[in-house]
Amino acid sequence: MSEKMNFQAEVNQLLDIVVNSLYSEKFIFLRELISNASDACDKLKYLMLTHPDMAKGGGAFKITVTPDEKNNTLSVADNGIGMNKDDLINHLGTIAKSGTADFVKNIKENGSAVDLIGQFGVGFYSAFMVADKVEILTRKSGEDKAWRWVSNGRDGFEISEAEKETNGTDIKLFLKEDQKEFTNSLNLRQIIRTYSDHIDYPIVLDLGKAGEETVNSASALWMRNKADITSEQYKEFYHHLSKNFDDPWLTLHFKAEGSIEYTGLLYIPSTAPYDLFQPDVKNGLKLYVNKVFISDKIEELMPRYLRFVKGVVDSADLQLNISREMLQHNVLIEKIKHGLVSRLLKEMQKKAKNYDDYMTFWNPFGIVFKEGIYEDFSNRETIASLSLFNSTFSAEKLTSLDDYIARVKGDDKSIYYLTGDDVAVLRNNPQLEAFYEKGIEVLLLTDPIDEFWTQTLPNYKGYAVKHISQAENLAFDRKGQKAADGDLQKLKEFMAGLFKDRIGKVEITEKLTKSPVSLSVENGQMSIHLERLMRNHQQPTAFASTRILELNPYHPLIIRLSEMAGAGKDNAKVEEISKILFDQALIAEGEAISNPSFYSEKISEYILKGMD
Ligand code: ADP
Repeated sequence: MSEKMNFQAEVNQLLDIVVNSLYSEKFIFLRELISNASDACDKLKYLMLTHPDMAKGGGAFKITVTPDEKNNTLSVADNGIGMNKDDLINHLGTIAKSGTADFVKNIKENGSAVDLIGQFGVGFYSAFMVADKVEILTRKSGEDKAWRWVSNGRDGFEISEAEKETNGTDIKLFLKEDQKEFTNSLNLRQIIRTYSDHIDYPIVLDLGKAGEETVNSASALWMRNKADITSEQYKEFYHHLSKNFDDPWLTLHFKAEGSIEYTGLLYIPSTAPYDLFQPDVKNGLKLYVNKVFISDKIEELMPRYLRFVKGVVDSADLQLNISREMLQHNVLIEKIKHGLVSRLLKEMQKKAKNYDDYMTFWNPFGIVFKEGIYEDFSNRETIASLSLFNSTFSAEKLTSLDDYIARVKGDDKSIYYLTGDDVAVLRNNPQLEAFYEKGIEVLLLTDPIDEFWTQTLPNYKGYAVKHISQAENLAFDRKGQKAADGDLQKLKEFMAGLFKDRIGKVEITEKLTKSPVSLSVENGQMSIHLERLMRNHQQPTAFASTRILELNPYHPLIIRLSEMAGAGKDNAKVEEISKILFDQALIAEGEAISNPSFYSEKISEYILKGMD
């Protein structure tokens, strides 16, 4: 009796993409199937150690790859945990992971998905790149019934009861006519050696009459001597862990000795995974106890700001039969995490010396890494020293805080910053005019996270981290004509009345050079950018800080306008121009203006007059 079932809609979409779009690098299907087989052996191995009563079979784990040239089939078999009917339906007919819609969208936009395969759990489905039919025969450890699962990857799948003497899973691919190369033993040997050498179980090529041949080294890569591992092998292991195709930016392999002994093999990728910013994204570390896989869900092993790190940690000092739950608040895990973080940071400090190379890391991950400045109190100075920022010093290169400090002239021990949405807009913010004039560098920060770390790092190596509104003594010697004090006073009062609902006060400033007006906030209050962020996230605007409208008394426009205000006539005109200037101040801050049509109408009108 066989039962016919449909794939979940998302699986159909994925299969469609897998079959039709993933034309290059077809051989990765083998890596995926071997990887699943190895996971299945890991699972049974763990079960045997933790629940020996439940586990049946297992022992000499191996993965067998059998090509059949005559019938154009290839099978990958394991003696791991196996699957029962529910497993087959749940794991090979549906996609549990969220993000499928994003995946499909991404492929539509970018045209290729090879880099992303596996990240979404499409590993098994990659079999349909080379096969037009896949048959699975499987029996779960500890259960009597075996099951057959068959599909052509288009019209759902069929499940029926079957006979199988031992636990484990055989996956048989009926290869497409043009994929005969995957029955060629030379070819298979080469693919397995290249992509699956590190698998801890023997991968055996079954060549029929010619006998069986173990193709891989079958020893956990991280337990081998560094000197015996080639950079290619490190890279392939990274691909296996990350299910990505990029090169790792950093590879760190070490043995820690001391109060707790462990081996770590850690990688920092060079491209961001699709889910880097999803709130439920887990870290990429696998925990082993003496080569037995325990879990890849130990959140406590890596802080959130290093969630992009992939790798393996193996410690014989952890008890094997310890439950996964008990690992969650474990002093040893805490110690390991401490060790991993400090080694990573140390290695990053070495790599940070090469700017171009460091940017390979910083571009995709800097925004996440910066979270550490406020998350990881004990390392925050190191994390800050490893962070890069836009600054007024250069439009081409980012700067580090240490380089900023090295450039500080005079004895104002401050690091100034300004926050906003866009670096180009920030560079032209009128509030910076005095800083340019006095040659004081300002960091231009555009990530939402910047609003937070700047609050938790009051100083760095003796330099106070300050928003530019906290700067003092910015006034500088001015020459040239200045508006008359009496007139200015009148204009100030007029504007204060006109904008009383929108600002706290109007001030005459000595800090502007090019701009007639500018908006700022009272020293120490929430920045305009943070206020905007909160507003965009529907946070109550009760926090709104007091804005100051600054007038530049040296600007010809302000001189003329204050004369008009001083004379007390043509108030309608003064009002109109004041409103335009106010809008300009908003625009310079990257803020929206309340009445764009009034603004553009008036500007056009004045331009036309200027053309006479
Ligand atoms: P992933 O491996 O990323 O979870 P796959 O699509 O490759 O995604 O596999 C889906 C699930 O099917 C696996 O998580 C596992 O539960 C199950 N599975 C696949 N291959 C095997 C196998 N050889 N033995 C046991 N279970 C398997």
